[in-house]
Amino acid sequence: MTELADVRYDDDALERVVDTALPTRYGHFRAIGYLDAASGHEQVALVYGKITGRSALTRVHSECLTGDVFASTRCECGEQLSAALRAIVAEGAGILIYLQGHEGRGIGLLAKLKAMQLQEQGLDTVEANLALGLPVDARDYRPAALILRDIGVRSIRLLSNNPDKFTALWRSGIRITERVPLLVTPNKDNLPYLRTKRERLHHLLPHLDNSSADSTSPNDPTKLASAIPPFSADANDGRPTTPDSV
Ligand SMILES: [Zn+2]
Repeated sequence: MTELADVRYDDDALERVVDTALPTRYGHFRAIGYLDAASGHEQVALVYGKITGRSALTRVHSECLTGDVFASTRCECGEQLSAALRAIVAEGAGILIYLQGHEGRGIGLLAKLKAMQLQEQGLDTVEANLALGLPVDARDYRPAALILRDIGVRSIRLLSNNPDKFTALWRSGIRITERVPLLVTPNKDNLPYLRTKRERLHHLLPHLDNSSADSTSPNDPTKLASAIPPFSADANDGRPTTPDSV
């Protein structure tokens, strides 16, 4: 299907290399670092508080240099990263896995920038990837599943709006007891992109209906939109349904 999917993952494909304290502006985390022998990527999980192994509040975040580091307003990644860390600290415990190799939904940084260039010419994010001869989404979530297993987590409450991520983690053996929406206020730069994600990639973004996105005021990364129900039969289009709370 994709280059990444062709990588073979054994249970011991990820080696835990380091476990260190990481104080941040959000709170004091542990940073657990892994070497992924299958792909060659270095991966890190930030762990906050005491993890019980069941229903841990978890964000599996795809790296996005432009959004996470440069605060690009063309996507919502940076704000989601911030909101997820705040939510985990507010919860008192949780995990954020920051997945390298996921830049531009897995096509790489330079290809993502080329795709942005095509979007300036009127293509949407899906059409741009395809125009470059690249997959719409090449992300591989198996490393996240292996990291969760290594930490001793069997089930999670997943901070995500993306049904495909839910399904991919589920197929990798991670039970998901709840999907926790991670909605950030859209802006005029990312509204078309978010609408494409909703319409073509099936992301669950109900808040777009109420957004004019005319405001140029900065978004509040602490603002999580009010909860919407977890995956339901009509929302997930036949994908695994969220089980009742465990
Ligand atoms: Zn991004």
